[in-house]
Amino acid sequence: PEVARLVASRVLDVPDFPKPGVVFKDLMPLFADGHVFREVIDGIIAHHGRDSFDMVVGIEARGFVIAAAIAYAAGVGVVPVRKAGKLPRPAYSASYALEYGEATLEVHQDAFTAGHRVLVVDDVLATGGTAEATLDLVERAGGTVAGFTVLLELAFLEGRKRLSPRPVHALLTV
Ligand code: 5GP
Repeated sequence: PEVARLVASRVLDVPDFPKPGVVFKDLMPLFADGHVFREVIDGIIAHHGRDSFDMVVGIEARGFVIAAAIAYAAGVGVVPVRKAGKLPRPAYSASYALEYGEATLEVHQDAFTAGHRVLVVDDVLATGGTAEATLDLVERAGGTVAGFTVLLELAFLEGRKRLSPRPVHALLTV
């Protein structure tokens, strides 16, 4: 569809970032193009339905950009899921394995009230570790996951399988 073509037109492949052998998908050109950014945000809201969620979660840091725009357009609030040690008040933590070492994400314990339907967004789905930890955090904090959307899914890393049976929506899959 049209929005997938728009995303494809605004992704840059950056070889050997952040380390040799990795091709990093850079979405900064998408964020920098006002027309494409608006189409992307409106497309996400239309896919899920404006009335299907009442809170948006963005994953640090590029997810914040997407989450804030969706939240503003839909007239709902936004909650950040942050890297360890950044949140000022009591938080739930979820750790997951990286190729070397591990990463930890956190959300404030009082971020949601029971019944909050939460749309979770990020820029890229790779192995799915980040998303899996985030969806767990949302549920531990009392939210209900209403949907999970990324702008770009890297299919060969099988993140969708890792998140199964939870549905994943990607504007573009490569
Ligand atoms: P995962 O946990 O699925 O392996 O990695 C996804 C997380 O790492 C997301 O938060 C995403 O922002 C970041 N990430 C991993 N690979 C890429 C990439 O090629 N491009 C961008 N923009 N982000 C990536």
